[in-house]
Amino acid sequence: MTTDLIARRAALLGPNVPTFYDRPVHIVRGQGVWLWDADGRRYLDCYNNVPHVGHCHPKVVEAIARQAATLNTHTRYLHEGIVEYGERLVGKFGHDLRQIIMVCTGSEANDIALRMAQAVTGKTGLIATDNTYHGNTTAVSHLSTRRPPIGGWPAHVRRVPAPDSLAPLGGSLAAQPQAFAAGVARAIAELEASGHGFAGMMLCPIFANEGMPEAGPGFLDPTVEVVRRAGGLILCDEVQPGFGRVGSHWWGHEALGFAPDVVTLGKPMANGHPVGAVVTRPDVMAAFRQAFGYFNTFGGNPVSCAAALATLGVIEDEGLVANARDVGAYALGLMSGLDHPLIADVRGRGLFFGIEFAAGGEPATEFCGRVVEAMRDRGILLGRIGRAQHILKLRPPMPFSRENADLAVAALAEVLREVPA
Ligand code: PMP
Repeated sequence: MTTDLIARRAALLGPNVPTFYDRPVHIVRGQGVWLWDADGRRYLDCYNNVPHVGHCHPKVVEAIARQAATLNTHTRYLHEGIVEYGERLVGKFGHDLRQIIMVCTGSEANDIALRMAQAVTGKTGLIATDNTYHGNTTAVSHLSTRRPPIGGWPAHVRRVPAPDSLAPLGGSLAAQPQAFAAGVARAIAELEASGHGFAGMMLCPIFANEGMPEAGPGFLDPTVEVVRRAGGLILCDEVQPGFGRVGSHWWGHEALGFAPDVVTLGKPMANGHPVGAVVTRPDVMAAFRQAFGYFNTFGGNPVSCAAALATLGVIEDEGLVANARDVGAYALGLMSGLDHPLIADVRGRGLFFGIEFAAGGEPATEFCGRVVEAMRDRGILLGRIGRAQHILKLRPPMPFSRENADLAVAALAEVLREVPA
């Protein structure tokens, strides 16, 4: 059945549609941190941040089913759902971030964020890092791709070198925050000189897709200062760190201690139901609403809001942010004890871990790939990140337990012993 599905999928969807693993996993059921394939084999999900409160959490399932059986429609009628959820959500933010637009994906949220910066400043220039992903609308894809788009890089987008733990900007981890900000300052100057002007910078506060390099509190202060001085907006993509993933706080920007102008949310927001949002200040929202008419047929519909509200409730009721902090610290301790000549660094933030593989300062990309495949064969699903895809990424659902961590790290220790370097 799985082989047939691979062939039909390829015939239907065309080439280059990504699947994880050399031998794709055909998942048919999920519960908590566990997944089962079509042959009944069980996998520990150490990768998936979408089922944030656990696969098929009964409270989220029940909320979706109840609302779907009552009403689901487009979003131009009055409905309590969006207001009740939105009020609960903005209550989790400071910095006057108290207005919201609900959408269906992180890409849409980021597309709006870019337009907010342009609406506020009246300028078009945008900055992102050279090794990131923010989504796939046409505008956002210009910040996401490593390949130049057809027609070349648009002149209003500048990509600055991303922070890196293996090869830090400025030559050392200590110099990196200033060196990163200096790159941003250069890009701003180029945008001003080109006539586009500078509207804003989009960044993930923990640089998740870039490989989650070492970046503690204050890391982004020099960059935020440079952006503000130039009159631009900080557009903070919380699609990966948001909703308590980082353990110490609800949001990545809180963990780093800076104030964004716009925050975007997605993936974990409704435990797999397609929900995203943009959260911002009233002045930014007013400028956006004035410059663009915006309507989203599905964004914030009653079922989406029920799913998101239930997810928020579970995070709170089950203490999942504290769990991310505690189990995260425990698991990081275990991972830090792993011994292998190619391990260059082990780092973690709550329930988000990166194990960087390198040899002589060069990324050990192929080795990392072999480890991911070998772990899959042992029933443990994880992925990879970083400029060379050489960093093992573990980012399990938030109810991940110490026992789960024991199992995953024990398997990893065995795989590291067995996989040829
Ligand atoms: N921002 C970040 C940081 C992401 O990792 C992703 C998805 N991987 C997106 C935005 C896009 O979200 P979506 O796929 O829901 O459009």
